[in-house]
Amino acid sequence: MRTGLAEELRRMDGASYGRYKSLTGSWRMPGCTLEIVRGQADPFAPPARIAVHVPAGQAAFPGELWSTPVRRRALAGYLARQAARAAGRGGPLHVDGGGQEVLDRASCRVGGGEGAGERWPGGGGEPGSVTVRMGVELPGRGRRIDGRAAEEILCRRVPEMAERALRYGSLDPAEVSRFVDTVEDSDALRRALEPLGLVAFVADGAVLPRRSGADDRPLTGPGAVPFTSPDAFRVEVDLPHAGRVAGMGVPEGVTLIVGGGFHGKSTLLRALEAGVWDHVPGDGRELVVARGDTVKIRAEDGRRIERVDVHAFVSHLPSGADTGDFSTDNASGSTSQAASLVEAVEAGARTLLIDEDTAATNLMIRDARMQALVAKEREPLTPFVDLARSLHRDHGVSTVLVMGGSGDYMDIADQVLMMDSYRPSDVTARARELARVPTGRSPEADAFPAVTHRRPDPGSVRSRAKGRSRVRARGTDALAFGEEQIDVRAVEQIPDRGYVAGVGFALELLVRRGHLDGKRTLAEALDLLDRDLESGAAELLAVYDDDCAVPRRHEVAAALNRLRSLRVHR
Ligand code: ADP
Ligand code: MG
Repeated sequence: MRTGLAEELRRMDGASYGRYKSLTGSWRMPGCTLEIVRGQADPFAPPARIAVHVPAGQAAFPGELWSTPVRRRALAGYLARQAARAAGRGGPLHVDGGGQEVLDRASCRVGGGEGAGERWPGGGGEPGSVTVRMGVELPGRGRRIDGRAAEEILCRRVPEMAERALRYGSLDPAEVSRFVDTVEDSDALRRALEPLGLVAFVADGAVLPRRSGADDRPLTGPGAVPFTSPDAFRVEVDLPHAGRVAGMGVPEGVTLIVGGGFHGKSTLLRALEAGVWDHVPGDGRELVVARGDTVKIRAEDGRRIERVDVHAFVSHLPSGADTGDFSTDNASGSTSQAASLVEAVEAGARTLLIDEDTAATNLMIRDARMQALVAKEREPLTPFVDLARSLHRDHGVSTVLVMGGSGDYMDIADQVLMMDSYRPSDVTARARELARVPTGRSPEADAFPAVTHRRPDPGSVRSRAKGRSRVRARGTDALAFGEEQIDVRAVEQIPDRGYVAGVGFALELLVRRGHLDGKRTLAEALDLLDRDLESGAAELLAVYDDDCAVPRRHEVAAALNRLRSLRVHR
């Protein structure tokens, strides 16, 4: 442990900028340890990375706030937000405070109680201690070190931030508890779904609409209509803190959401998409949850597909390509959606969410008249309406589908929900009645075939470019991975930039740890990754010096499937 950072910085004043690198290491500061993980090469290079470790004795959080992994994640989520606020915007300190979701983030971690002895590389990790990681723009005058300004930032502002944001005594204890309890309730609610035979739950009173397409905070004011569950779907669940809560349970099977345009169908589905994450208090979706293996599926023309068996949906293409072993550099809307669906099931998704707004129409429906006009022999596509039932019956994969434009799904839906002025009602009985009147449509398939598992070739997943590792998030749109850019715009459950970075890092880990070895299936490799992530993300985060969040296997698989260099064996 080094001491005397302030003196060192003063001595370095006026030296060439590169000398900042000599500060790498851990420095003792009043009340915390400042670890300079990586210096900054020049004034225009990415910010330096530092970590601030506050020992348990100084942080002084009561044990019940960090007694379980979920509570530690929640406390860390709260502290990351506080640290980001204390660091301010537009200044030299960059803390990833996160958005509405409470994720396991590199930016803040609280040391664990069990698994004692876990220590994070570089320091921190002891039970009850707090580590915050951030970027710092180190000040310079041209290409020379500004030692005084650096001293002000590293020796005054950073400890001040730790003092204000990372100590129990400086915080509002009621607010901290509420945050941690809220997350614990969401988590408990999500765990309650499977035993109840539900895929999702939306509490009465939940606020689903967001402020705008670009602002994920809740819509406020009298215009925001709180959620009310229809009687037929009402379920009550006991939670550790909120007690008994009532709301709409979405059962397993095929669920259809219908209703007029602009009546809130997509908003409900988007809330379910985000239901795999826990949300901060005040978000409106604290008690809106979906099972962790829920995946949104959509069309995405132009994407690459690598040896996916899409023959359930697509047969005899005009090109003569084998759709049981289908590859393309430029998928169509329908083939992209078919591949994404099969890939999701391959990676372990057990609930699929589909919105007509972003689905390929010809993959969803083919009505009686079109069947009469275009013979089956001339239509390569089998619509999802003929496969969704078998997907549940034979493979245990449920679907929640928004479809206001076609009544054909009434034939196969287990339950039908109608949105009317943002209020849902149960129209299952009426839909069944209507379904008894024959449309003249004939089913085009009777079973969804077993998924063909693929074995990714690790040599095709290269994170290195120009001799070094290159894994970098480009906002939430793309991931720079080695020489490639992975377009993740259609992977809609990605919550923020740090999550994209986490996905990239997990991809690298899959290869580096040998989980992808050319022999294991993708699903098997993801099982191993899950085990790594469960046994502590510390190692995962330590080698990666950027803000990142621990990802689900589903987004890791989605990114891998969109990597244009990917090659697989079968
Ligand atoms: P649909 O998919 O049925 O066409 P959307 O879900 O896109 O409708 O919603 C249409 C508009 O209504 C959006 O601007 C959305 O933010 C708003 N909205 C949705 N649900 C609510 C609600 N509960 N309260 C207020 N506004 C809502
Ligand atoms: Mg819509």
